[in-house]
Amino acid sequence: RWIDVDKLMRHVEGDAKTLSQGRHQLSFTIDAPAQLAGAETELLSALTNLVTNAIRYTPDGGSVHVHWLTSSNGSGEFCVRDSGIGIEKEHIPRLTERFYRVDGSRSRETGGTGLGLSIVKHVIQRHGGELDVESEPGKGSQFRLIFPSLRVRPAQAEPAPAPSVADVGSQ
Ligand code: ATP
Ligand code: MG
Repeated sequence: RWIDVDKLMRHVEGDAKTLSQGRHQLSFTIDAPAQLAGAETELLSALTNLVTNAIRYTPDGGSVHVHWLTSSNGSGEFCVRDSGIGIEKEHIPRLTERFYRVDGSRSRETGGTGLGLSIVKHVIQRHGGELDVESEPGKGSQFRLIFPSLRVRPAQAEPAPAPSVADVGSQ
């Protein structure tokens, strides 16, 4: 099934706004309309997990940006960037382990289970892609869900509407 990136975006935008309650600056952008081959509910849960983390681990007043980017080689990615607490380098390789949470007062107080990123990794692997993480403690984090070109195509244009009887007759 081909899924509109735009549809996924609008869905996570709704979830993010509900979760943030106006406490963060949010943006959701797409560089070029595209479609992704995959399982819609899985892709949505992966993206929602990343955006939920970005909001959860970003103090009030911070920002969360979600962007879809199509590369010149045909691959595509969702990039979820936040200005939050960040992650120490030593934890990054372990983030996708089940139940792994960075041992810090803030992540304890937010009370997740540590499963979100293991699900994200599972989903992106099933779609032939990869998860890339970059982070700087105190500055923020960037999580990219990267899809191979086989799974990405430009959004299909709407079929042109049939000419009306009047138009045909006047030619
Ligand atoms: P769950 O998602 O199951 O509710 P969780 O958010 O703790 O719980 P993961 O989503 O797997 O679990 O994330 C694992 C850990 O990685 C988090 O506990 C947190 O310490 C760290 N982390 C994840 N995303 C971010 C982020 N955007 N900024 C800072 N730390 C993060
Ligand atoms: Mg999480």
